[in-house]
Amino acid sequence: MKLPIVAYGDPVLKKVCKNVEQTYPDLKQLISDMFDTMYAASGVGLAAPQIGVPIRLFIVDTGADEDGKEGFKKVFINAEIVDESGVEWAFNEGCLSIPDIREDVMRKPNILIKYFDEDWNIHHDKITGMPARVIQHEYDHIEGKLFTDKLSLLRKRMLQSKLDNISKGNVHTEYKMRFPKKKKKR
Ligand code: ZN
Repeated sequence: MKLPIVAYGDPVLKKVCKNVEQTYPDLKQLISDMFDTMYAASGVGLAAPQIGVPIRLFIVDTGADEDGKEGFKKVFINAEIVDESGVEWAFNEGCLSIPDIREDVMRKPNILIKYFDEDWNIHHDKITGMPARVIQHEYDHIEGKLFTDKLSLLRKRMLQSKLDNISKGNVHTEYKMRFPKKKKKR
């Protein structure tokens, strides 16, 4: 089932998310709904706060590459980035919660991450390149951070009216969203 994606400005996107308990009700269903939601929005990653649930859960699927080689698809529960290394590189990032805005963001290329998968198996993985980039972006979400928080003050000021318009729902997306400052129709 597809769920609406929470837009920029909603306080849930600013929350440091809580750990997921093994007894969390209907977790597999929630994960399945998140994949439906992400694919429908053509995203490569989605974090639980983006559907309004402030728990430490995110999913990633970078999709198949041009050669048809299978993409990087994983579920991350209670993830912890243990280490980041290498020379920071820029990539033009976007976010399903911040439609129509893309900005260069600097991040380190290698990460060491500890997490549980959807069957509660623990993993310690070294991940590099684009999958690491997507994980860092989603990991920021469960820490209550957005990529716009990483921009210079000047850059953010230049984007402010666009960001305000997103909060108010003055933006067009192919997927369903929930806007924090949208005026209710009477
Ligand atoms: Zn995002």
